[in-house]
Amino acid sequence: MAELSPNKFKDKYLTAKEEKRAFVPMKKMETLWFNTGTQCNLKCANCYIESSPTNDRLVYLTADDVRPFLAEIVENKNNRISLDRVAFTGGEPFLNPNMFEILEETFKAGLKALVLTNAYKVISRAENKFLELKKKYNSNLSLRVSLDHYTKAVHEQQRGEGTFAPTLKSLKWLYDNGFNISLAGRSITGEDLDLARSGYQKLLEDHDIGLKLSSENLVIFPEMDAMEDVPEITIDCWGILKKTPEMQMCSTERMIVKSKDKEKAQVQACTLIAYDESFNMGETLEESFQDVYLNHPFCSKFCVLGGASCSSTS
Ligand code: SF4
Ligand code: SF4
Repeated sequence: MAELSPNKFKDKYLTAKEEKRAFVPMKKMETLWFNTGTQCNLKCANCYIESSPTNDRLVYLTADDVRPFLAEIVENKNNRISLDRVAFTGGEPFLNPNMFEILEETFKAGLKALVLTNAYKVISRAENKFLELKKKYNSNLSLRVSLDHYTKAVHEQQRGEGTFAPTLKSLKWLYDNGFNISLAGRSITGEDLDLARSGYQKLLEDHDIGLKLSSENLVIFPEMDAMEDVPEITIDCWGILKKTPEMQMCSTERMIVKSKDKEKAQVQACTLIAYDESFNMGETLEESFQDVYLNHPFCSKFCVLGGASCSSTS
């Protein structure tokens, strides 16, 4: 596959051919992600956010960072925020020492929480905290566990040797203790969805995990190659491709991040572009209702041409 041309994605408003770049207005906020920090206990092949034990480009969020955004959601000043649940991704959220406090704040604000986790040792070492949280807030917490494939070989080829069994053990513990769990896989082998689902289902049955898989609780994410050449999206592309700005994630979602060189947490346009300053949408949710110019290869590859639907990290 050809490599990305260096002339593309240079100007916010114009493409390399000097055509008007497409943009996405923010309609209503229906999803809000918090990136709890980019550090991770794993270093997976193809992690689109390049997380690792040493990546601290996005630092750990604290409860103080999160509180103002929760308040904005509850206040919903201009009636433009429509969410009863927020979501957390990383890195690995449960490495963040503030994570349980952040979740408590979320639940106290009357919101539910979805947390993406690799469930690699981070659940087993905090079982009591998980049980306490569940006792207090019952079903407000949902966990989406990343299991790249239902075979040990493919999962560990991505995530490293020895990562499969501890994750499965935590999955079983979560299921046995009544947590709301779902699974995130990846289409590494390119097999069709039915085959993948039956592979995952058999794996769960073999491990005495009674979760019945459906399109609701098993998501298989497409593979992402950031360096591949892709076309730039112009305003004329919408009609040609029969796509609309409203179909893109950044018309309804934002992600909160805290860069290590910033004092305050900031709003990014979406989960896919965590580091690029030109996708910074300000410091409040209200301020983040801005047009997003599709000046990044991910916009073409994963969204307009690829149909990405939500974050797959962790
Ligand atoms: S990557 Fe997708 S969601 Fe993110 S800004 Fe580009 S089009 Fe929007
Ligand atoms: S894919 Fe998830 S578990 Fe793997 S390195 Fe990235 S954040 Fe960590």
